[in-house]
Amino acid sequence: MLKVNGIDVFYGNIHALKGVSLEINEGEIVTLIGANGAGKSTLLKTLSGLLKPKSGSIEYLGSSISGKAPQSIVKSGISHVPEGRRVFANMSVEENLELGAYLRKDSKEIKKDIQSVYELFPRLEERRKQLSGTLSGGEQQMLAMGRAIMAKPKLLLLDEPSMGLAPLMVKTIFQIIEKINQDGTTILLVEQNANMALSVADRAYVIETGRVEISGTAAELQASEEIKKAYLGGL
Ligand code: ATP
Repeated sequence: MLKVNGIDVFYGNIHALKGVSLEINEGEIVTLIGANGAGKSTLLKTLSGLLKPKSGSIEYLGSSISGKAPQSIVKSGISHVPEGRRVFANMSVEENLELGAYLRKDSKEIKKDIQSVYELFPRLEERRKQLSGTLSGGEQQMLAMGRAIMAKPKLLLLDEPSMGLAPLMVKTIFQIIEKINQDGTTILLVEQNANMALSVADRAYVIETGRVEISGTAAELQASEEIKKAYLGGL
């Protein structure tokens, strides 16, 4: 579905991604794990067109998307849930969901999809008229995911969905990630919580200072002594 081939991404002189390659097959949950500043968010921003690679290529469903504008990437079926959620605080839950469908014109379908988002996240339906800025962190994460789903993605990019959430909420969010995947959406999941990420993923890539250093099935990484020591709390 997605093939990233040796991309280099810079912020000015800072070489943030160094020849990164990875692949995602349709139907998978693939996780990208790595320490703070390793380049995980940079990769997601590049895939969604917010940053342009200086070299290398990105192929999605058989065509090149590197250098394309973010709207056209969303239209082609890639949605990005950014780190920190970025919900529109002064708008209601439902208005945020409607905005997620801003590139669509099928208003009947949009209404139906809002209902499906509410089925996935009953908490959002209870709070549909509430201003988003007053939601808890976990509810904002649900809203950011719901908003992204409103674009009807084939590939969903999730940046640190568990960040700052209580353990019970982390569990809920991960159950919903699995449900979204079972309903047919392919997922690229960026996480610092490597334990949780590997527990839901099919495969994983470990990124260190801008380079993919290790890749394998989630089970292989969970069993690796090196990964256990560096990313799974040494257990
Ligand atoms: P985190 O979990 O902290 O977001 P990350 O793995 O997502 O970590 P990135 O945010 O992708 O890391 O950052 C990769 C590198 O690029 C870091 O060295 C970071 O300091 C640098 N960087 C990120 N954003 C910018 C920016 N806007 N301008 C300059 N440098 C940046």
